[in-house]
Amino acid sequence: MGQKGRSIVKMDVDKLINLLNKALSDEWLAYYQYWIGAKVVKGPMKDAVISELNLHATEELSHAELLATRIIQLGGTPVLSPEEWLKITGCGYDAPADQYVEKILDQNIKGEQCAINYYSGLLDKTREGDPVTYNIILTILSQEVEHEEDLSALKEDLDLMLERRR
Ligand code: FE
Ligand code: FE
Ligand code: MG
Repeated sequence: MGQKGRSIVKMDVDKLINLLNKALSDEWLAYYQYWIGAKVVKGPMKDAVISELNLHATEELSHAELLATRIIQLGGTPVLSPEEWLKITGCGYDAPADQYVEKILDQNIKGEQCAINYYSGLLDKTREGDPVTYNIILTILSQEVEHEEDLSALKEDLDLMLERRR
């Protein structure tokens, strides 16, 4: 553990590590929700949706990587067991039981909105006390905003296409 790096953090480090572990659990659940969604999705514009879901899965995994690395830098232990994910998650997990494109897009949009809300709060909490974590969270948040936008644009295209057919 880098002692100097940890010593410049001007907030409760254990609390911060808990907040980051919550986010880490969310990211793994989001990763799987996208990954399995891309496998099972059915309906119009399926190919475009699959590409986006797979890309987002990869990006959620990279968020997990950033968070775990920061937790270790802070002297913490990243969640060690998948059982923990569902216990401490903030945004939860929405199984794609209904595999229709629109339903899967809606579920993931909801997940992104929850993530945006959580990371936005985390920015407020770290702005003064831990600029290094703040910077990492800002990077992640920017990508979640992009995710919400991408999924919403796909949904719009889907709606337009279905409307034209009527
Ligand atoms: Fe993410
Ligand atoms: Fe995302
Ligand atoms: Mg995207």
